[in-house]
Amino acid sequence: MLFDALSFEALLFDAPLFDAHCHLDFDSFDADREAVFERAHAVGVSRFMVPGTTRRRWKNVLALSERDDVVASLGLHPFFLDQHAEDDIELLAEAFDRHPHLVGIGECGIDARFEATLEQQWALFEAQLQLAKQLRLPVIIHCVHADDQVAKRLKQLDLPARGLIHAFGGSSQQARRFLDLGYVLGFGGAVTYERAKRLHRAVQSIPDDGFVLETDSPDMPLCGRQGQRNEPSFLSGTLGAIAALRGQDREQVAANAWVNTRRLFRLTADS
Ligand SMILES: [Zn+2]
Repeated sequence: MLFDALSFEALLFDAPLFDAHCHLDFDSFDADREAVFERAHAVGVSRFMVPGTTRRRWKNVLALSERDDVVASLGLHPFFLDQHAEDDIELLAEAFDRHPHLVGIGECGIDARFEATLEQQWALFEAQLQLAKQLRLPVIIHCVHADDQVAKRLKQLDLPARGLIHAFGGSSQQARRFLDLGYVLGFGGAVTYERAKRLHRAVQSIPDDGFVLETDSPDMPLCGRQGQRNEPSFLSGTLGAIAALRGQDREQVAANAWVNTRRLFRLTADS
């Protein structure tokens, strides 16, 4: 049975897990944030990357980044387009001046489900790509139904530090194109759904250094947990599904993802 991984049992091995994308700054964690961290640590999820989404939320992301187990980025997410103001890009650039420990730019990108705002989304994304180029930081990309267009733009730009295609949901060919450009793919709860056959083929097709694990908490629930808040302690379900799909041990997948995440965000031994 491919997805026996979905028993969600605690992981009992030495390889730690890095949740490469989780919105632990969101309001939905206000009531029990500390318990969420504790539950994650209890099952071996010991590092967290928290990406910023709107200017209003950056201060919460920065506060979390003070923790030893958290690294963070700041950005302007296309989903919250109506919350961004004209001067946010300028303030974003200033924030990077003031906070050199930030490991990337994002979450930013294109969500083609919202067709009416695509032009604005591209303008905002483009500004953040230019900033990533200038600051030589990796970019954390939200890309929904826009893989081909985003890959084309990334190829033209040739960003120095590349980045993460978060919550990758495309085909093997689209995966290959991003990898060839030097980007890493983020796999989350979507891989735990039996019906996601095209994504499963992509998971099976990529090399060991091409992916990281992420929950996108509180979103992207795993199969069997639809409608519930997602949290980093559930990362083991995604790990199990990926290990089953790739025919590898969980330990091996966890270790590869750990190394890939640290390389992506250029973390040194003491960070
Ligand atoms: Zn996200």
